[in-house]
Amino acid sequence: MIKVECPECGEQFETEAAALFLFNRFYCSHCDALLEVIEEDPLVLDVVDEEYDDSEGEEDDDWEAE
Ligand SMILES: [Zn+2]
Repeated sequence: MIKVECPECGEQFETEAAALFLFNRFYCSHCDALLEVIEEDPLVLDVVDEEYDDSEGEEDDDWEAE
C-alpha cells in the first residue's frame, strides 16, 4: 500500500500501488472525491469532476400555476 494525499480534502490515505498508474481513477476514502492519477513520477493526483448527464436540459418547471 502507498500513502497518497487527497487533493480535495487534504487527508492521507493508503491505496494499492497497483492502482497508481497514469490516468487511473479511484475514490478518496475520506471524502469520496473521484481522483485521477495525472502524473506518475512524482505522483500527482487531481480531482475529477464527475460528469453528469445534462443532455435533457434544464429541469422542467412542472409546478402548476393556478
Ligand atoms: Zn479526500
